[in-house]
Amino acid sequence: MLVDLVSAAQKEDWAELRNVLYKHWLKTCPKLYSINNEQPWDNTGFNEKLINEQLFVPLVSAFCIDSQNSDSTLNGLNKLAGTDPTKKTGQMCGHVFKNGELTYTCMDCAQDGTCVMCLECFEASIHKNHKYRLHPSSGSGYCDCGDIDAWSDGYACSNHTKNDEESHKIPEELLLRTRKIVDIILIYCINLITQQDDAALPKDIESVKAELNRDVTTAPQYLTVLYNDETHTYESVIKVLELYIHCTKDQAMLVATLVDREGRSAVKLGSKNECTKAKDDFQRKKSGSTVIRRSVDRSLPLAVKVMDTELFAHQNHAISLLNWLNIQMDVFPSLREIVGEAMLAQLNETEKEIVIEENVTSMEEGQEQIEVKVEEESEESIENMEVDEESTCPQKSEAKTLLETILLKDTEMWKSARSLLHQMLMKTVFMNYEQKVKFSKTFIQHYDKIYQYFIDDDHDMDISVVGLSVQFLTVPALARQLIAEDDAFSVIIKTLISHTNKYIKEESKRFDFMGRSFPTELKRSLNISRDMAYLLNAVPSSDGWSPELRTNFIKGLKHFLNFLHHLQGMDEVKRQAGEHQIWESEWETAFNILLRMKDVISLIILWTNTNKDVHNEILLLCLEEMDQHPITSTDENGGTHIVVEVETVSATLRNFDVLRGGVSIHQPIVRLIAGLFSSPDFVQFLKGQTENEMEVKIRNRVKLLGKDFYEMSLRVLVLCAQSVAQLWRRNGFSLVNQIHNYFSPLCRSEMFDRDILMIQVGCAITPPVDFLLHLLQRFRLAQWAETSFEGFVKQGRLDNTKMDTEDLSKITVTLAEEFLQLIIMIVGERFAPGVGKCPSMSGLQREVVHVLCTGSQTFSHIQHKMSHDVPSKRISLHEAVNAVADFRKPLATSAGQFYLKNDCLNQFNPFFMHYSKSDQSQAEQHQTKIRSKMDKSIRACIPPKLPEFNTFFERIPDILRNPLIIRILRLIIDRTTKRNRFSSDRLFHKALFIVGMALNEEETNPEEFNFTGIAEDTCGLIEALEGLQGKQESSICHLLLDEIILKYKRLRGLRAGTSKEETTEKIEKPNNETVEEAKLRRAAKAAEMRKKAMSKMTNMQTKFMKQIEEVERKEDQTTSNTNEQTNVGKVDFYGKSDYDEDIVRAIGTDFPVCIGANRWKAEIISERKLTCILCQEDEPVHPTNGKPMVCAAFIQQSQLFTHKNRNGELMTSTSTSISPKDLLTAPATLQYGVDVSTCSHSMHFECYKTMFEANKNRESLRARQQHGSHKMVEPEEGEYLCPLCKRLSNAAIPILPATQITPIRGFSTVSGAINEEFDDWVARVKRQLDMPCSNENIRKKGHSRKRSHSERSLLDLEKQAQKDEETTTPSAGLLALVTPHSETDPAGIVEMVVRNVENDATNEFYNELAAMFLDQDPIANSVSPINTPEATPIGGTTPRSNESTPDKKPLSAQIQHALHTLIRPFPGLVNSNRLCGNGLEQYEESIKELGKNMIKFRKKGNESKTKFIEKHLKGYVIATVTWQSAAHVARAISSYLHYDGKPLFGALNTRHRDCLSAMARLCSSLSHNLQFLQNAISDMLRILCCEPPVASSSSVSSTIPQSPPAGAPSTSTSTPSNSSTNVTANFTFLMQLFNLGGPKKNANLNILQVDILSLAISLMMSIGWTWHNGNQLLNTVGNQKQRQLAPDGSVDEAYVLRLSLLAHYFQIFATYEENDGNDVQMTEENEEVVSELDAQTNQLLTKLFFFCRPYESRPRRMDLLYKRLEEGAQNLLRPIALIYHFLTLIDPPEALKDPSINSSEPLFRYLSLPSKIEEQISGSLVENLFSMWSHAIPRDSFSRQEIVVQPVRPNLLVDLPLKYSQLINQVSTFRCPSIPIEESTSNVPTICLVCGQVLCSQAYCCQRIIDKQTYGACRYHMSQCSGSVGIFLRVRDCNLVLMTTRKRGCFRPAPYVDEFGESDQGFRRGNPLQLNKGLYQKLKQLWLQQGVTEEVVNYNEIDFRNHQYDWGHF
Ligand SMILES: [Zn+2]
Ligand SMILES: [Zn+2]
Ligand SMILES: [Zn+2]
Ligand SMILES: [Zn+2]
Ligand SMILES: [Zn+2]
Ligand SMILES: [Zn+2]
Ligand SMILES: [Zn+2]
Repeated sequence: MLVDLVSAAQKEDWAELRNVLYKHWLKTCPKLYSINNEQPWDNTGFNEKLINEQLFVPLVSAFCIDSQNSDSTLNGLNKLAGTDPTKKTGQMCGHVFKNGELTYTCMDCAQDGTCVMCLECFEASIHKNHKYRLHPSSGSGYCDCGDIDAWSDGYACSNHTKNDEESHKIPEELLLRTRKIVDIILIYCINLITQQDDAALPKDIESVKAELNRDVTTAPQYLTVLYNDETHTYESVIKVLELYIHCTKDQAMLVATLVDREGRSAVKLGSKNECTKAKDDFQRKKSGSTVIRRSVDRSLPLAVKVMDTELFAHQNHAISLLNWLNIQMDVFPSLREIVGEAMLAQLNETEKEIVIEENVTSMEEGQEQIEVKVEEESEESIENMEVDEESTCPQKSEAKTLLETILLKDTEMWKSARSLLHQMLMKTVFMNYEQKVKFSKTFIQHYDKIYQYFIDDDHDMDISVVGLSVQFLTVPALARQLIAEDDAFSVIIKTLISHTNKYIKEESKRFDFMGRSFPTELKRSLNISRDMAYLLNAVPSSDGWSPELRTNFIKGLKHFLNFLHHLQGMDEVKRQAGEHQIWESEWETAFNILLRMKDVISLIILWTNTNKDVHNEILLLCLEEMDQHPITSTDENGGTHIVVEVETVSATLRNFDVLRGGVSIHQPIVRLIAGLFSSPDFVQFLKGQTENEMEVKIRNRVKLLGKDFYEMSLRVLVLCAQSVAQLWRRNGFSLVNQIHNYFSPLCRSEMFDRDILMIQVGCAITPPVDFLLHLLQRFRLAQWAETSFEGFVKQGRLDNTKMDTEDLSKITVTLAEEFLQLIIMIVGERFAPGVGKCPSMSGLQREVVHVLCTGSQTFSHIQHKMSHDVPSKRISLHEAVNAVADFRKPLATSAGQFYLKNDCLNQFNPFFMHYSKSDQSQAEQHQTKIRSKMDKSIRACIPPKLPEFNTFFERIPDILRNPLIIRILRLIIDRTTKRNRFSSDRLFHKALFIVGMALNEEETNPEEFNFTGIAEDTCGLIEALEGLQGKQESSICHLLLDEIILKYKRLRGLRAGTSKEETTEKIEKPNNETVEEAKLRRAAKAAEMRKKAMSKMTNMQTKFMKQIEEVERKEDQTTSNTNEQTNVGKVDFYGKSDYDEDIVRAIGTDFPVCIGANRWKAEIISERKLTCILCQEDEPVHPTNGKPMVCAAFIQQSQLFTHKNRNGELMTSTSTSISPKDLLTAPATLQYGVDVSTCSHSMHFECYKTMFEANKNRESLRARQQHGSHKMVEPEEGEYLCPLCKRLSNAAIPILPATQITPIRGFSTVSGAINEEFDDWVARVKRQLDMPCSNENIRKKGHSRKRSHSERSLLDLEKQAQKDEETTTPSAGLLALVTPHSETDPAGIVEMVVRNVENDATNEFYNELAAMFLDQDPIANSVSPINTPEATPIGGTTPRSNESTPDKKPLSAQIQHALHTLIRPFPGLVNSNRLCGNGLEQYEESIKELGKNMIKFRKKGNESKTKFIEKHLKGYVIATVTWQSAAHVARAISSYLHYDGKPLFGALNTRHRDCLSAMARLCSSLSHNLQFLQNAISDMLRILCCEPPVASSSSVSSTIPQSPPAGAPSTSTSTPSNSSTNVTANFTFLMQLFNLGGPKKNANLNILQVDILSLAISLMMSIGWTWHNGNQLLNTVGNQKQRQLAPDGSVDEAYVLRLSLLAHYFQIFATYEENDGNDVQMTEENEEVVSELDAQTNQLLTKLFFFCRPYESRPRRMDLLYKRLEEGAQNLLRPIALIYHFLTLIDPPEALKDPSINSSEPLFRYLSLPSKIEEQISGSLVENLFSMWSHAIPRDSFSRQEIVVQPVRPNLLVDLPLKYSQLINQVSTFRCPSIPIEESTSNVPTICLVCGQVLCSQAYCCQRIIDKQTYGACRYHMSQCSGSVGIFLRVRDCNLVLMTTRKRGCFRPAPYVDEFGESDQGFRRGNPLQLNKGLYQKLKQLWLQQGVTEEVVNYNEIDFRNHQYDWGHF
């Protein structure tokens, strides 16, 4: 084959080459792309290597004519062609963006927003230092670097800059060959992927196939293939798949994702019938209720095809081929041009034949399609005949080039095929300008068809060929070429018209969407408007108009007007007079259309502004077109006009009443006409003479229209005014919304602003009297304007319903206010382009000024308030803002705000056109505030000085000096004076403002304007004004009144003695100016302004810097102030002044010490008093004098310190039940922490109880009433909000009195250790522990009366077990007990048990205890990912074996009896239900309550066992859980302080202090329980003092999930010995607890598996109980008399602490690894000191290391080990110091309150430890201990790795990159781990901030189902990584996600901010963002304080939108 192929290529016999290739492919493809039988969707089985070898290598051989070739890339061609692929210069970059990759746009140089660069180019370009934006790409575009048309400057990066030398010629023969082979490949691929017949291969291949195997006939296999559509949801597809394919939900999810990503997936392999049935099943499901659609107005069946497997294989091959070709273009760059040419070239006859044949078959196939197509075609051809004579070619769809096939068959392909072809287009034709031109011409030629197919299709624009239009329409020269040569404007708008025609209503000829609001098809059609905006985006210069461009532009505009006709007058409203509108009328669609057309209209106006002829032609056209919309009247008698009179003046006006006639808010043609007046120079002729034919025509038109010219705009404005006056109330929200949008920043530029412009035009061309009367008439104010008006309406009834006079006067006054507002706007709004003589920047600046007049604002807020229109988008808003405002940043973490500069205050106009009513009042308030200390003239807020009008508009101010308006003003003043009911403050203010404006006019033009003169003559305005001065009536604006009277008088006086020269000079200027001069002057002015602006800028910058300094200085001051304050507080606190704390006097000398022999003592002088927040009563905290008090508290599980295994997973999955060990102390993994926090708000326990019950009742009531309402607080879980501060709480923590004031004595009072040295103490304790336990004691105390058989056996058993443990097979011995074949006689035992049972209570106890032994514990092994109660995908509790099962009974009895004997000696324990000593009796209940709550947050597990223990050994359980929890709390607070750089003491806030104090006292009071269980104390001591259990892999591995331990309860269920091992485990636990005698030297636990801090606290809390009458008894029970003792810092406690510290040092020695991180965090500051570790210490450490690990070589860096020791000491001692401070109340040394002191010494001394580590670890005792403990270290490296490395560090948040773009680019390469498809990356890549892993959030691909509950990727990861809470960063939309339970979560902005200090939640603005370290630090603190849940709940109270998310799916 290869030889044939190469020789064909050599012979240039292309037909033969094709033949050989086809044959080869026919043979190999079905094999290489074979379908997986079981899971046809799974194509991971494709063998890439074979595909390369068998398919691509031969192809390359043909390209190179080299049969020896073994390369699968075209690299070889470079050599043949002599090209260098690495040279990029001279080319366009053309990098095709991946989905999510960042694109960069330069705000200064890009031609428009679509011009982008890739990161690589951007970094190498000049734009790096410009202002730029960045956006994540949607995966459908390429880098424009190198494209001269795209950039005004810096068109290319340094890599892609053009250089001339490059024009290499490729050898002719190579070119031809490449081209021919490419042709063959492309035709093959495109034929295949556009193949319509699902059962056969394309004709040309089929014919080759027939030739190949004429005789072989295998039964073809078929496939059901599911295609993607955008109408069906994931859920519905998954459901259908589960139902008919019978796959699992996981598989269905995978298929659904594949279909969504790739566009299709095979779902079933089988015979044709089977596959067809599956297809029918799928499609029948279409109307079923299970199928939910994304868009309601389409109901299509699922797209399914039944396909020949061979075809499918070839299609897959085609996809790989195209992909390969795309890649080869980078390997062999010349290929781009060749492929491009191949696509654009005319197909030759044979090729055409193939393609056309193809078309014919496609027509014959799908019959439905033909019908539809025929209809459409006939319709269209008619349509086309009418408008376009040129293209009447009947065979329109006939493809002449491959490109046409691609364009026209786009929608017939599936997603991946499309995107591959689009990528190919981007890499080829778009890289070459000539090819691009050809492409775009073809595109425009088929524009209508392409859009037709797009609209019928349902895929998004990104994956449609229409999305490519942006690539050529945005090229300015090309766009104009297309308009001029191909009439693109007409083509596009005609396409839009043809697709929107169906929405036109017959009679009105307007769009009507009453039936269906914004249909999907319309939505799709309107994408065409995007193309229009692109096409027109580059406005030609005035000399850039060619005749063709002009003709075709005007032609296109005619069509455009045709479109606007359907909008003009749409959705007309008529006032609902009688009743309310029954249903809200549809209004949104019209606005949606407008929004999409808005930019086009603005652009059209900009185009016309550059050419007067075009402008005028279009103006005339528009005016003519208005004929189609005759102006209506509302006279019932048919009269169109009436005469309106006011006082002495009158005018003839059109008779119309807005209240009675219909008005439409949509006037696009009118507004287009208005827009044409924004180039007033072109219409100047309207006011003068003209001979120009066109101009004459226009003038006649305008004349003819007369006042109707602006009538429609006026009506809309009146409608809005009447709506303000509540006259349109009954029309409902539809109208309210329309009006709202009419004024909104989004729409106003093409609506409201244009209407105002239109009125201004009207005012400029109409005589003032007529104009004013027109306005008055429309506002229905003609009578009001008469002096005699008293409320009587003669002009017909206002309303059908009666209106009382008050209503009427209110309405009239409001209308009058609106009328004056309009006058103010007509005269005052001169900043729109063309209206006033001012640069375009000043309009924007004024807009900003007015936004800032309402208060300081952030940049994004200002941006939000600006109009969204094309012209203002082209001006830099930032520049405008900087010109008028100062930037200030109040805090490092808050967003910066802009403050208006004082010198801009005079621009303030309270009646600014874009102010809403609320803006206006806000602005007035703010101005009053900030001006309060300023000069009177500034406080008055006089009307601002305005620029002059342009010549066309210069007559506008004349309306101000018209006697009519002056009379009206006088009238208003008079009515105000009289307090007439037709007056209002607002009306008076506006009238005064208008007078002010008129005076301003007179000031600039005193001679001619003469307002004061006319006012004097008309009505004596000034007298009226003066009459009001100082009166109550004018108080609303008395300052303004004073100022105006002043100015009035000044001007009047000025006029009396005029200095003529000065003024004439002023007025002459504008009059005599020609257009040219005006231009020059404007330019000069602009330059001047710019200069000013620049100097302003520099000024501002220096100012700004100064301000920053200022702010910083202030900040420093405040921080130092707060420091001082805290110092004061501290002094108060420790100086025992009036503070909310017990007042204490400390007794001691020298250095403060809180523990040990030299400890200080504290006395309570007066106890603490608290106020109950519920009943407000004060209560002392005293054991007898006060009622018990509690604090609101929040308990949660915390994995903050939980260790992670090597995979970064939390080590929680080791055992799912509470291991017996945990009852003694916490495991080193710290699998669960129970965190307690409080808001410090105290209440009576009684009050709390009452409140809690009330809450619960209310909640259950509410739950019944509003079913399913989502809420954040869950009362069922015991949650409530603190009544005072609303903090989330779920428990109450008792506030106990200090032990010092209780009758409880301290341990030191019974201890005899006071005179012992540490070494002696340890030796003695060790000796005692090693001593055999004297069983006699037990026997003596127990019922020695008769030692039963079973009792004996129990002891034997125990001995046996002991032995077994030593030999590490602990289960064997106990089997004897549990096997039924035991020698003991069951019956006898039962008898005995019955006899021995004394009462029911104890009976129950033993029953349950026995049951526990038989408990099989299968849950323990169910492998579940999460075992925190909050996150819990734990398998539900499996039914456990029933203890009452008959055959188990004897056994149970046996055990029962055994236990009876065992526990008999501890009656105190069994019967004691006292948690604490008698002294604290009244606190009992609250402590119990809290204890129960805390237990809840421990892991759920072996329930019967925990239940048993909780029930009968409650005190013991609560004590241990509290101690462990106290350890956690103290550790967390100490860590928080450390990472926040605060000292251990002195910076504690009230919450911390109260929490620690309460926990410390709880710990101490719960010590009481251990007096009955002294064996537990001994056992804990054993861990420290005795030989550890032999470290074999099995014993160590009890914390290792991989290898189940033999003795631990988490053995695999499958082993038959399960129940017995369980028994063993339980038994071991009890033996441990009760220390049932026997010579037992060894500790039960490995010292390396224990958390030393928890152990130390537990021991310190209980050690004192071992002293009896001056003797320490560690092996016997001692006397049972209840005592009252508590820890008080006794010597025992101090020695326990010191021993624990040594044990912790040992842990560090044992786990220290040279290579695991030199990141010693605690002590990094004194690096220099330690690195020069003195020789002695070095030696000491080396020696100890040898004792620990004798068989290992010593580490090289002892200093690092030393650092670890220091860190460990801090970690252990800081929490203990906190707890002991609050226990003993001994004030810590000052050094611990000072953050600058870094040494450990004060801490050591405070805790009575040797002050240097060296001293602590030297001596023979330490050596002995170390070598004893060293047995705990496992030898094998595997087990070694499983040991928790000490010291423990919290799981902190990861560090983030400084630049946000870095983060985005980092994740753009991220691929979904479940379906790693090359081209499409995950949509929501999300980073876990705890470990930094990137996840695929909120997507089906990575969702997991555990226990029928779905888990989004983040939620699942959370359970593995951070426990019950998580913090994630969604990278693409710059959002933080905080999550807790499934129901709770919230979004917060990510800690990245732009240059204005603002975050960009959603990443919409696209400004470059930087990490705000302050914000991130806050987040880190939140994490460390475990405040996520609280934050989420708080935030949900603020923003309830967070409720709507399914947080389980994240
Ligand atoms: Zn690039
Ligand atoms: Zn570049
Ligand atoms: Zn730039
Ligand atoms: Zn109370
Ligand atoms: Zn509170
Ligand atoms: Zn993580
Ligand atoms: Zn995924």
